[in-house]
This record gives sequence, structure tokens and C-alpha cells, in this order.
Amino acid sequence: MLPPATSSSANSPRPAPAPAPSAAAEAYVALGSNLGDRRAHLEAAFAALDALPGTRLLARSSLYETPPLGPAGQQDYLNAAAALSTTLAPEALLDALLSIEVARGRVRRERWGPRTLDLDLLLHGDTALQTPRLTLPHPAMLGRAFVLAPLCELAPDLVLAGRSLAQHLALLDQAGIRRLAD
Ligand code: AMP
Repeated sequence: MLPPATSSSANSPRPAPAPAPSAAAEAYVALGSNLGDRRAHLEAAFAALDALPGTRLLARSSLYETPPLGPAGQQDYLNAAAALSTTLAPEALLDALLSIEVARGRVRRERWGPRTLDLDLLLHGDTALQTPRLTLPHPAMLGRAFVLAPLCELAPDLVLAGRSLAQHLALLDQAGIRRLAD
């Protein structure tokens, strides 16, 4: 005799509950290039950021031409900023930024030397942390007009250290910083 029929759902394991989606954070990235086809490096970086897992490019700033810090004789930089929505954790996003730099031919030689592409993680939601690899908010961002000028197109009212980003920018020397036509 056959065993009594059982409904297929009675004995089959319940499907595991779907993992809760990790909350997306809004992150801001500074982009810079002063070697090779600077505009192509920045365009490739915007596309690569938008293609990261769990990540969407929400907004991008204009491009700015800015005088270089560091050793003399370097070409001017092109700088820009990106706003992202991302489910990547801060360290994972930093790893992804470093991979994008390497993919654009970044070679680390001298400090503040010329680079095909530099990507800095400025903010990741309201995360504040300091590890050997990553400091958030980025420790130098409030003192650099070439970072704040593009960032202020995206988040002028965001408050850090008691002032809006637009107020921080107004305190800085912006000599030599030129917004390029879109
Ligand atoms: P650089 O690209 O020369 O500006 O330096 C990048 C290095 O700074 C990376 O290897 C990171 O480990 C470290 N770092 C610390 N905090 C940050 C941050 N907020 N964004 C990017 N790099 C950071």
C-alpha cells in the first residue's frame, strides 16, 4: 500500500526569510585627476561608482580646474564630487574606490605627486570613525576648496563641525579654482 499522500508544502522546509536589506547610506566621494586624459578619468570614475554593487550615483557636480598641492611642475587638477546611495559599508566602499583608482592606472609614487585618479571618501552617512585605513568624515575635507567647491553643488546645507559646507567654503581661499562649463 502506498503511504498516505501528504501535501507537498507540509513536509518541505519553509523558505528561509529573505535577509533584511541593509539600509542604504548617502555617501560623498571627491574625485581628482592631474595626469593623462583627466576628463576621461573622471567620466570613467562616475560610471564605475554607479556600477558598484548596491550603489547608485545620485548626483555629480560640475568639473573644476584647480591648482595642484605638493611638488611643483604638475599639471592642474580636474576635481569633482559625487553623491552616492550605497549599501556598501564604509570599508567596503573604500576598497572599491581603491580598485577604481587602480583600474585607471593609478600608481602610488611620491606623496601628493601627480595621479591619474584620486578618489577620497568624504562622508558615509553620519558615520564617524578612525581606523588605520579610514577616517570619516575625511580629515582634510573642510580645509580644501578644491573639495568643498564641487561638494557644495551637491550638499551646501549639510552641517559639519557647527557650520554648513557652504559656510566652510566661504572661509577658504578659492583663488585659482575655476568651474568648467558643463
Ligand atoms: P591618497 O589616495 O594618497 O589620498 O591616500 C589614500 C589612503 O588614505 C588610502 O589608502 C586610505 O587607507 C587612507 N584613507 C584614510 N581615510 C580615507 C578616506 N576618508 N578616504 C580615502 N582614503 C582614506
